[in-house]
Amino acid sequence: MKKVIILKIDTYDIDFIKSRLTDFIHKHFHPKKIFFGQDKILLKPNLLMASEPSEAIVTHPAIVEAVGRIFKEEGYKVFVADCPGHSLSNQYLNLIYTTTGIREVSERLSFDCLYPDKIIIKDNIPFAYWVDDFGMVNLAKLKTHQIMVLTLATKNLYGCVVGLHKSYLHREFPKAEDLSKIILKLYKIINPPLNIVDGIFALEGRGPAKEGKVKKLGIVIVGDDALYTDYVISKLLGLPLQSNPLLSVAKKEGLLEEKVEVISEVARISNFRFPPQFIINYFPPFLIKVARLFFKFRPAIDSKCIGCGMCVKSCPKNAIMLYNKKAKIDYKNCIMCMCCQEACQVGAVFLRRNFLLKILNKFDASNKV
Ligand code: SF4
Ligand code: SF4
Repeated sequence: MKKVIILKIDTYDIDFIKSRLTDFIHKHFHPKKIFFGQDKILLKPNLLMASEPSEAIVTHPAIVEAVGRIFKEEGYKVFVADCPGHSLSNQYLNLIYTTTGIREVSERLSFDCLYPDKIIIKDNIPFAYWVDDFGMVNLAKLKTHQIMVLTLATKNLYGCVVGLHKSYLHREFPKAEDLSKIILKLYKIINPPLNIVDGIFALEGRGPAKEGKVKKLGIVIVGDDALYTDYVISKLLGLPLQSNPLLSVAKKEGLLEEKVEVISEVARISNFRFPPQFIINYFPPFLIKVARLFFKFRPAIDSKCIGCGMCVKSCPKNAIMLYNKKAKIDYKNCIMCMCCQEACQVGAVFLRRNFLLKILNKFDASNKV
């Protein structure tokens, strides 16, 4: 039976988080057993972009520190790594480690920050080498996602694929259902035995980057399986399984058949705001296809653009060019993957909705963002 625990933790006080997690991890997840034979632990936070921890776009460094200290005190050598989609160079990954506060924690506690310098191929997918050599603790962030509705523990595994190949996957599998199949493929290959999701401050509305809104949920979720952890969180937030692309594909693939034991310190969370275009998912299945013809949205660039070119490099379809130091999208080639939004450090990429979708969103109380 799978196990998921929802803890009420409403502060980023490191000692408090550590003391709460230590008891539950030891009592319910038995680190020496699940990481048997391992002496190196890899903490895999969600480090989507170079953003401040208070923006709730990345896993908070207090979670990384608290979990890292638990394993260090157990005698493990602790490492930290992520491979964000647009991090095309170690120099940029350095900026991410520094801005997110991970560098400071790692230097103070002698955790090593790793870079995807070596690649290993599994099932034709190039992974960063640390997928194989370490016991992995998946440290995800609780956020909305404009394509996948939510990004939690399973989607965080996407950051184990080396940067440029993620662009390729986005290009080949732009739809949420197809991307879900790829993410589930990664899940079957990696499936870390310990998953911890930072929901103390989450991101709601138009996540997973700068367009999202910070919301205090005051929870940390711990599970022994990434997919079941997501399943329990999705339910806690009131999202029906059929409205979560990843979970509905997982269900069809027979990946959600086991029983799950849930220990929870919190009741259901109401009024969590999903991405505005998500309202289409409430339609009866036969109407969804038709609705998609009328309710349109696409990325657009606003005046905050500083012409840095990060979106140009991250676009899997080469659909962005710089004109007069401003990014411009060629919509003929755009596949709506939103990699450009994740790459933009100043929040200049936003999702423009057509007027029908704007009107529809006005009637959805959960989406007034
Ligand atoms: S949209 Fe953002 S990432 Fe693209 S060039 Fe402008 S500032 Fe840079
Ligand atoms: S313009 Fe943005 S959304 Fe469109 S294909 Fe490129 S990265 Fe994806």
